Amino acid sequence: MAKERMKKNRIIIFDTTLRDGEQSPGIHLNVKEKLEIARQLARLGVDVIEAGFPISSPGDFEAVRKIAGTIKGPIIAGLSRALRGDIERCWEAVKEAEKPRIHVFIGTSSVHRESIMQKSEKEILKMAVDAVKIAKDLTFDVEFSPMDASRTGFDFLCEVIEKTIDSGATTINIPDTVGYALPDEFGNLIKRIIDNVANINKVILSVHCHDDLGLAMANSLTAILNGARQVECTVNGLGERAGNLSLEEIVMTLKARKDFLNFTTKIDTKEIYRTSRLVGHLTGMAIAHNKAIVGENAFAHSSGIHQDGILKKRETFEIMTPASVGFKESKIILTSRSGKHAVKHRLGELGYELDKNELDRIYVFFKELADKKKEVFDEDLETIVQGEISTIPEVFHLKYIHVTSGSQTVPTATVKLEKKEEVFEDAACGDGPVDAAYRTIDRITGVKGELLDYSLRAVTSGKDALGEVTVRIREGSNTVTGRGSSTDIIEASARAYLKAINKIVLLKEKMLDK
Ligand code: MN
Repeated sequence: MAKERMKKNRIIIFDTTLRDGEQSPGIHLNVKEKLEIARQLARLGVDVIEAGFPISSPGDFEAVRKIAGTIKGPIIAGLSRALRGDIERCWEAVKEAEKPRIHVFIGTSSVHRESIMQKSEKEILKMAVDAVKIAKDLTFDVEFSPMDASRTGFDFLCEVIEKTIDSGATTINIPDTVGYALPDEFGNLIKRIIDNVANINKVILSVHCHDDLGLAMANSLTAILNGARQVECTVNGLGERAGNLSLEEIVMTLKARKDFLNFTTKIDTKEIYRTSRLVGHLTGMAIAHNKAIVGENAFAHSSGIHQDGILKKRETFEIMTPASVGFKESKIILTSRSGKHAVKHRLGELGYELDKNELDRIYVFFKELADKKKEVFDEDLETIVQGEISTIPEVFHLKYIHVTSGSQTVPTATVKLEKKEEVFEDAACGDGPVDAAYRTIDRITGVKGELLDYSLRAVTSGKDALGEVTVRIREGSNTVTGRGSSTDIIEASARAYLKAINKIVLLKEKMLDK
């Protein structure tokens, strides 16, 4: 890290999509999905992947351990409370990494100290110092966060920072845990910390901003201008409540305005769009069309004056090119005549490495799609892969669905599902074709999911486009998401629902952790 400190204009990108992002309500990622995201984060070029909070569940521990053992390049960090048991568990999970990091936190604001911990400043300080020492005995790279720093008394905050640096912390992170800070105030806090903490130049100063007031970006940028050199962020701005600083926004701001800011990152920005889409798919969290950098409309020009300008010279209304963040023009790549080898080759170019089993499954789906659709685009292929491969084991498999509906008939669905070798068939009526399909699936599986959210989007343009449905359902204390795609939106709806139902079945059988 000493070398990093020398490069004064280099900003360290600390991605916490798999930790803070995964804490978003309604998100459930399994180990395989987390690994896939981590692999893409490494390709994107983040400096640090916070892979999870190992003590929080066996599933989280396993995911962090797998990522640490597999992903090369970035530092792999695990989060830990300031308790010996947590820290040792965290170390167990990250120790196989090329570059492991233990990230210890403790609440330092009076409201956190008194209401959550019931501890005095002195006691909190001792816990923080002891925790950093325990971590330091295990590994060199130790990050310490005084949680709720922006609402912590300044003198106490400085004391905690100074003592934890003395105990061996290499990164000090200042979290605006509740998204309360204002840009001037937060920038000033960073400046005052640098001015008042005697040993601050021994560490990288980091910030972790939340977006409750829509100020995560402004606060992080001001912190950088005042001396912070690491920012904690998530893909698509996922995270607790309103989310965290979004990775794509800070990275592209530093790049687009290098003339004014003069900072660099190690991010390969052409990987941004793909990363964003992968995270959107796997988490089931839709991306707003007008979301900066990665929204569908982020580079769409609709007014006549703007379109005219763009055609004459892109710079008239574009501060960065779609290509610079990896937006691709839709390209016809395959047809029903394409063989398995061609599909495998194209998937390889898109960055997907599949084993033989997975490729066989994808190819069956591809052939079905290509027969219906004639031209299969990159986006179609990616949707199939992300929908079919990156999911938990199938408990129930959709064999057949038939729905009748219309303005003069009662919508009725007939569904055939397969579980291991057994085949189940049933039928039910509903308020609409999707409702009828869902009621039938409920009858067969014995799970009654409450539909919280349903969204449908066309993957590419045209009437024969692949439709992708994302659902969020709740049963008891479990909230899960599911995605499905087909050129038939009722079938896509059924596939999405069945994916979610399968997760619930596995959660109930304790085959899945959360
Ligand atoms: Mn947070």
